[in-house]
Amino acid sequence: MKREEVFNFSAGPSVLPRQALERAAAEMLNYNGSGMSVMEMSHRSAFFQEIFDSAKAKLKKALAVPDSHEILFLQGGASAQFSMVPLNLMEGGGADYAVTGHFANIAMKEAKKYGAVHVAADTLGGEQAYIPRQEELDLSDGAKYFYYCANNTIYGTAWNYVPRTAAPLVCDMSSEILSRPVDVAKFGVIFAGAQKNMAPAGLTVVIIDKALAGREAPYTPLVMSYKTMIEKDSMYNTPPCWCIYMLGLTLDWLESQGGVAGMEAIKHEKAAILYDIIDNSRLYKPSARREDRSDMNVTFRTGDADLDAAFAKEAQARGLMNLKGHRAVGGIRASLYNAQPMEGVQALAAYMKEFEAKHHV
Ligand SMILES: *Cc1c(COP(=O)(O)O)cnc(C)c1O
Repeated sequence: MKREEVFNFSAGPSVLPRQALERAAAEMLNYNGSGMSVMEMSHRSAFFQEIFDSAKAKLKKALAVPDSHEILFLQGGASAQFSMVPLNLMEGGGADYAVTGHFANIAMKEAKKYGAVHVAADTLGGEQAYIPRQEELDLSDGAKYFYYCANNTIYGTAWNYVPRTAAPLVCDMSSEILSRPVDVAKFGVIFAGAQKNMAPAGLTVVIIDKALAGREAPYTPLVMSYKTMIEKDSMYNTPPCWCIYMLGLTLDWLESQGGVAGMEAIKHEKAAILYDIIDNSRLYKPSARREDRSDMNVTFRTGDADLDAAFAKEAQARGLMNLKGHRAVGGIRASLYNAQPMEGVQALAAYMKEFEAKHHV
């Protein structure tokens, strides 16, 4: 298939802006007159330092990151943060975890290795996926931090509020970062694997309140110490150079589309097209509670696993790729990250109607 014939609904790694890929292709063999590819240059070179500094500055601007917070470019994926967070922040105490999805559950279990974990909410196992209300959160006294996942990629739910807690907020924003404005000052740590909404896999963005650094457990590996990484400006060891470069190109595209505010304006419109079909359908059922639905990952099912599989398979044949739900929950999932064009959503909407007409008379 030609690229023009495909819309990619993968949950991650996922679609990147065409403009960023074209720039990368044009600069692939010779970056900016350096005579080499970004993939080949020293991370200590002036060429790369400029790439690094500008990507960081663009991200700082896009998310209005205050000077109290540091941006780190790390490796290990979002999953490494499941360990890095408790290693650095839990010393001598415990933490509250809201378990609203697959990854928050893994993070909670990982944290148990390092200290006392209190489950402040657990919404798994119900008929429909949902997000707890503020008053449903069971907060413990003296927690070192409160952990939650802003957008549950697999379940298709999103927190539409920032929880109020005495403890610093730690938030996994992997699948929604850069899709809506965030008041960064409210958070102790924000982290996100880049492969959902920012760049290729291999980069993890961490935004941390500098006041929280330096409290790590004594056995914390150096590469997992926020303090070390802040002091070395993410270059204690070789950073994921290519991904940082790609992040810079994605952020240029983002800026040309009106920045994070521009993304927020369109994301709800995109998701609403699909939710409208689901809500008016006799075939499709939403997997998430209405008021907690994610604009990034739209999840639904027919109620028949074979029909769900047929939906994804027939879609593939017409260039609508990666619509199969995560193996943990089944069903159907359409990921509508920033770089998913409106045409992709419209093509999927047309297909959904056709499929329903064919399979539900
Ligand atoms: C994909 C994802 C992860 C896992 O990311 P890795 O980079 O594979 O470790 C964690 N949290 C959320 C919300 C995700 O969407």
